[in-house]
Amino acid sequence: MSRYWILQKLQQEQMDCNPLFITSLNSGSNGNCYYVGNAREAVLIDAGISCKETEIRMLRLGLSMSKVKAIFISHEHGDHIRGLTVLSKKYQIPVYITPGTLNNSKLNLPAQLVRSFYSQETVQIGSLHITCFPKIHDAAEPHSFMVSCGPVKVGVFTDLGAVCEQLTHHFQQCDAAFLEANYDENLLHNGSYPYYLKRRISGGMGHLSNRQALELFTNFRHINLSHLLLSHLSKDNNKPDLVLSLFNEHAQGTEIIVASRDMETPVFTIGVKPGSSAESAVQTHSGLQVQCF
Ligand SMILES: [Zn+2]
Ligand SMILES: [Zn+2]
Repeated sequence: MSRYWILQKLQQEQMDCNPLFITSLNSGSNGNCYYVGNAREAVLIDAGISCKETEIRMLRLGLSMSKVKAIFISHEHGDHIRGLTVLSKKYQIPVYITPGTLNNSKLNLPAQLVRSFYSQETVQIGSLHITCFPKIHDAAEPHSFMVSCGPVKVGVFTDLGAVCEQLTHHFQQCDAAFLEANYDENLLHNGSYPYYLKRRISGGMGHLSNRQALELFTNFRHINLSHLLLSHLSKDNNKPDLVLSLFNEHAQGTEIIVASRDMETPVFTIGVKPGSSAESAVQTHSGLQVQCF
């Protein structure tokens, strides 16, 4: 293998990988769908809004479904799989899902679209690498994901009963992350939810509070963490303004975004340093609304 060929390949991989484009198409107990891709290919993490709504929101952002080469499913709760069957069948997109999640989901996916993954496996989709690792949540085989392309890494971390070692290990490598900040502890405890539901949410197998997410952020964030998308906010036990101001106090240069329960976020560009030639390339990249940091 010649040196020239290796250099060419490395340069091509860098072009493929730099930067990553990310958006939350929806986030919350009413539906979750997260997009991570480069200029050539993309993956969706979860498909919890309808196929129609996924199409509408991607179109508004200038994102093409033809780039979506795989859908990864974190767990079987309805807000993560509601649109999966129609979406995957319509576009013939392979679905990466563990056998336990598939079994509990009661979905009737065409066998030729189903791909299994196992814990700690890294799946390659074009030049994207998706690492699947287990998380604590009240589901059969719940997993979180790290999507990387070259040196750029994006984490998708929602539906977390607690912060575990796996999570801190991966979070501290992220250039950007979708991180659950489900509830404010006071709002939950003083709110109208029945006791059993309060226990389900905060009892260690449900969801992460603003405080727990903030502790992870302040203790383990990487110096290169450019964007933090606060995700899966509770409608009744959280307030976007409240959690945004809480995190902004500790942002130290990281852009904090609240992923909406009702609409898509803009597309954020990850892995481009301000003023670099790659940044100008991104700004002129057609068909994408981008926001550079
Ligand atoms: Zn959920
Ligand atoms: Zn869940």
